Amino acid sequence: MTLLLFGCDGQVGRELQRALAPLAPVVALGRLGRDGLSGDLTDLAGIRRTIAHVQPTVILNAAAYTAVDQAESDPETAQRINGEAPGVMAEAAAELGAWLIHYSTDYVFPGDGTTPWTEQDTPAPLSVYGRTKWAGEQGIAAATPRHLILRTSWVYGLQGKNFPRTLLRLAATRTSLDVVEDQVGAPTGADLIADVTSHLVARVLGGEGASATATSDLAGIYHLAPSGETTWWALARFLVMRARAQGLSLCLDPDQIRPVSTEAFGAPAPRPANSRLDTSRLRSRFGLQLPPWEAGLERWLQVVTESFHTLPSHPSS
Ligand code: NDP
Repeated sequence: MTLLLFGCDGQVGRELQRALAPLAPVVALGRLGRDGLSGDLTDLAGIRRTIAHVQPTVILNAAAYTAVDQAESDPETAQRINGEAPGVMAEAAAELGAWLIHYSTDYVFPGDGTTPWTEQDTPAPLSVYGRTKWAGEQGIAAATPRHLILRTSWVYGLQGKNFPRTLLRLAATRTSLDVVEDQVGAPTGADLIADVTSHLVARVLGGEGASATATSDLAGIYHLAPSGETTWWALARFLVMRARAQGLSLCLDPDQIRPVSTEAFGAPAPRPANSRLDTSRLRSRFGLQLPPWEAGLERWLQVVTESFHTLPSHPSS
């Protein structure tokens, strides 16, 4: 049994390398590929060849065009990577009888209302990024029933571009900051996504922990996010307060984080105001608990602040 991972250098991809390792050998490919295998999702023929060569039992696609604002002015590239490549992977998976595990986003939804989105709700994306991710989901569903699409939200990891890292970097030097307060969602750790994925892979392959539920019944779309909800503004205050409590020296006082509207903030791509995801399907079908979002960020902060404190403050001579 072999697992084939695309996007191994991203936030989720890095954590998947860790979380999948106990299950089976993982062929992990970044954009540049290796050993003659293509990992570039704009190279659709190369992706097909790679899958045919590796003959994986499960393909995991953590690669994506995730620059939401940039996608507005580069829709063709975003569509190829997010919209077309997943369908090509799904076709190649179908030929092998392999499973495809893919990640999608709360941005497939229009963001109106205040109730959490369920898997039965119809997507109506507001942005190019959201539209291309929705196209990718549709391409997969059309090509193979053996898929899991995990829609998640507000992803952060120890590396990569994410809100908590940007916030702490700005908080180190700035004394005031404007942060959007009218978007509601849940920050999701890349580690949680990877750990849940590993559990799901084991279950669909009938491995340890498998229940009497038929494997094929487990296929489909699932929403994956921690429990609870927050806004970017409340999250920023939480991060600064907790980072300070853990001894990180920051210029930014939480009371100097000013709430602003999405409209006033003026990002190029529209974003959903309501990014709440209803995770009951995932929890009930797989018997999972999803911890509160604060727990993941407390652990993230601990690692970040510990590594900060253990770095030498002066270069050694
Ligand atoms: P990252 O941006 O951290 O990782 C995406 C990876 O895809 C990067 O390593 C990137 O490489 C790679 N990539 C980009 N273009 C290509 C290409 N042409 N060929 C191969 N690889 C490419 O994203 P996350 O780990 O955060 O996201 C994982 C999944 O979760 C994605 O499907 C995303 O849509 C989804 N998601 C993410 C959210 C978020 O807030 N980040 C929110 C909701 C869903 P490089 O670094 O070289 O560009």
